Amino acid sequence: MDIGTITTVRRPHSAEDIANWRPSYAWLAGGTWLFSEPQPDTDTLIDLHGLGWPELEAGPDGLTIGATCRIATLYRFAAPEAWAAAPLFRACCEAFLAGFKIWNVSTVGGNLCMSLPAGPMISLTAALDGICTLWPRGGAPRQVAVTDFVTGNHANILGPGELLRSIHLSAAALSRRAAMRAVSLTKLGRSAALVIGTSGDGGDLHLCITAATDRPVHLRFAAMPDAVALQAALDAQVPEARWFADVHGSAPYKRHVVRHLAEEVRRELVDGGRP
Ligand SMILES: Cc1cc2nc3c(=O)[nH]c(=O)nc-3n(C[C@H](O)[C@H](O)[C@H](O)COP(=O)(O)OP(=O)(O)OC[C@H]3O[C@@H](n4cnc5c(N)ncnc54)[C@H](O)[C@@H]3O)c2cc1C
Repeated sequence: MDIGTITTVRRPHSAEDIANWRPSYAWLAGGTWLFSEPQPDTDTLIDLHGLGWPELEAGPDGLTIGATCRIATLYRFAAPEAWAAAPLFRACCEAFLAGFKIWNVSTVGGNLCMSLPAGPMISLTAALDGICTLWPRGGAPRQVAVTDFVTGNHANILGPGELLRSIHLSAAALSRRAAMRAVSLTKLGRSAALVIGTSGDGGDLHLCITAATDRPVHLRFAAMPDAVALQAALDAQVPEARWFADVHGSAPYKRHVVRHLAEEVRRELVDGGRP
């Protein structure tokens, strides 16, 4: 789409080149959302790709995903064998309502910054206890958990002009066994509910709910719960206001589906990871 309000596109080599942030500026990552609808309040796009951030940096302490890492790059990433949760990368990339054009330009950081309930990169990085590094304009970098980064439907904690620089996933989180379930009203459609569970050597359970809720919701169990305890925890720990009603389903529908998916995830992890 032509977004006729844009008069300037800047391609800085350093974030510091952008001084005096104005409300009419917007960082440009893949542009898949920015170019998909009118942006009447924006006159200047600032392309992040000139900043040259590495896409993926894997090391003994885990994986750092640069905010400008493309979905297609993450999809192709060959993770070390010890990272048992790595199949989630592909599964979450496939949870996009997106064709190959979107995949090849859309970025992980752009997906987090959109902060839509059905943002699959939010599902992935929240479930693996990802930590965002943020670069405020004119302030020191700060770190925040992905779960606290997203505050609601299309809402997050970014201040004016603040950049999401990267998301770090620890090796410990990546080494946990993982199971994921998602439902969508249409094949390859946007998720109505997405549930990821992970379990460590001690047999604990971390459950992360997205898409059905307006922001990620975590349930943590020190030991694997039985089916009854899981359902009771879902009832007790997910506030009613969190269930997100939209064209993909009503709040009661989403609650119902999550209860079902969470039990499937629990059972897969109890059975040693066999789907
Ligand atoms: C056909 C289609 C299907 C889609 N399907 C889905 C879907 O299933 N789920 C979903 O969640 N979204 C979906 N989207 C919306 C959007 O394309 C995705 O959320 C995508 O991941 C956004 O990434 P991007 O790199 O293209 O972001 P952009 O469009 O470049 O930017 C999105 C927003 O984030 C800001 N931003 C980007 N990067 C940063 C950064 N590093 N720091 C600070 N601000 C930043 C931009 O200023 C802008 O406000 C879809 C869009 C289309 C057109």
